[in-house]
Amino acid sequence: METYDCVVVGSGFGGSVAALRLAEKGLSVAVLEQGRWVTPQAVERADKSLRRLMWAPRLGCTGFFSQTFFKHVVIVGGVGVGGGSTVYAAVLLRPKSGFFKDPAWSSLGVDWEQELASHYETAEKMLGVTTNPSLDVMDAYLEETAQLMGAGHTFGPVRNGIYFGNPLETVSDPFFGGEGPPRTGCGLCGDCLSGCAKGAKNTLDKNYLHLAMRKGAKIFPERKAVKIEPSPSGGYIVHTAHPVRSLQRCPSFAAKKVFLAAGVLGTLELLFACRDTFKTLPDISLELGRVVRTNSEAIVAILSRASKVDLTRGTAISSDFYPDENTHITQNRFPEGFGFMKWYLGPLSDDKDPGRRARRTLLGFIRSPFAATASWRAKNWRKRLSVLTVMQSMDNRISLVWERSRLRPFGMGLQTRQDAGASIPSYLPVANEAARVFAKVAEGIPLNVLSESVGNLSTTAHILGGCHMGRSPEEGVIDTNHQVFGYPGLFVVDGAAVSANVGVNPSLTITAMAERALSRI
Ligand SMILES: Cc1cc2nc3c(=O)[nH]c(=O)nc-3n(C[C@H](O)[C@H](O)[C@H](O)COP(=O)(O)OP(=O)(O)OC[C@H]3O[C@@H](n4cnc5c(N)ncnc54)[C@H](O)[C@@H]3O)c2cc1C
Repeated sequence: METYDCVVVGSGFGGSVAALRLAEKGLSVAVLEQGRWVTPQAVERADKSLRRLMWAPRLGCTGFFSQTFFKHVVIVGGVGVGGGSTVYAAVLLRPKSGFFKDPAWSSLGVDWEQELASHYETAEKMLGVTTNPSLDVMDAYLEETAQLMGAGHTFGPVRNGIYFGNPLETVSDPFFGGEGPPRTGCGLCGDCLSGCAKGAKNTLDKNYLHLAMRKGAKIFPERKAVKIEPSPSGGYIVHTAHPVRSLQRCPSFAAKKVFLAAGVLGTLELLFACRDTFKTLPDISLELGRVVRTNSEAIVAILSRASKVDLTRGTAISSDFYPDENTHITQNRFPEGFGFMKWYLGPLSDDKDPGRRARRTLLGFIRSPFAATASWRAKNWRKRLSVLTVMQSMDNRISLVWERSRLRPFGMGLQTRQDAGASIPSYLPVANEAARVFAKVAEGIPLNVLSESVGNLSTTAHILGGCHMGRSPEEGVIDTNHQVFGYPGLFVVDGAAVSANVGVNPSLTITAMAERALSRI
């Protein structure tokens, strides 16, 4: 058994903030991360091999990009030291004020907008947020799309956590007065989503985790937390396993305080297992998993008809606009390693009824097989593709529950459940409208993701909630200080704690909320 003052489970945004801020307080800190270190070599290999990109340990894939299929949603994420920052597009935006005023958490006696303001500033400084200085052809298409949709005034470059020094030139730490690692300027290769081999993206190993290690925090890659139990001497014992080699024995970790930051799926899996399977934390609120949000996301794509264009110059996401008060749209450049996604795209089809929409899509294949399979056959696919991520700040949700499934009849696992009331959408009319307008501007073919149009499954990179805040365990899983009701010293500091729909890319908010939580410990 290893003993620390604090154990942090997961090394994404929430976990990295916890690691640094606890280490700064002079506490001994162990960070447990199920994935590996994502080295530049690993990133380069992943661009050429799906097996090295994907994280699916049971299938022998030990990369750093995960795709989890549920009945109602497909969730993509990052696995490795740095969590989602390894694969994210580094768009770091503050939400609109409706997020802070959402009754889901504004009724808890905290003025969130005022309270989080200074923590957003800290988060922006730590993550090196700056306005993207480089717009290219795809951004010009998006700007014209915004204008044609009557929202030209909302178009602009996004705020990115990327080092835009001289392209590909390495300099000593430009961010932390010499305490950070050397950095290389962004070469605008558009590869951010499968990792940044050049080191220009401000991934968490280059800021929070780097500084935490300098202060003595220890990071344990390939250590999956599988069970937490109260320790007879106070605090908790965290049991671990190797995520791939199940027979390998791994030590347990004892700590006075435990910070859960394993991302929504990791944190919920651990808490459900401890409450319902091992019964080591039986008093966790029955609200666990009840309010999970997807940022109301939809993804559409446009394939240019011109086979020789190259739209990849720039960061993965460099510009955005707001077609209406509730909707936010960004463009995306896909990296080489995402070539498998060409098979996910099919004809654009509209219908509020999922069954009819699926039939329309299949009819599209029959009526115009050439256009419908354009993505599958496209040469130079990546360079011709523009992807739009469409997010809404609407109040909709699903639940994650702990059940057996047909695929896993002998073990329990997370499953999604659609609750009565506002369910998460797999069809956003405004997303299809934007795809059509963009396609006209770019002389391209608008496409839907087939899991959305045929499978009625929304796809999200922005899963949030599941451990929402409340005044009591009857109302929520954690209090406004992020402490789990009934378990002093056990905290949730990742996306699972986000208790309302952010409506924009959420990592800056997760970081700011974790900064606030840690400032109170
Ligand atoms: C392709 C893609 C692009 C994105 N782009 C953006 C963007 O531009 N801007 C933005 O704001 N957001 C973006 N996101 C979303 C963003 O990555 C997530 O919202 C964010 O990473 C969530 O942070 P987190 O702290 O909740 O956990 P995560 O960052 O998900 O980290 C959780 C970590 O915990 C580890 N873990 C899980 N279970 C265990 C366990 N039992 N034991 C030990 N470790 C465990 C995981 O391996 C993971 O490394 C993107 C996501 C994807 C997939």
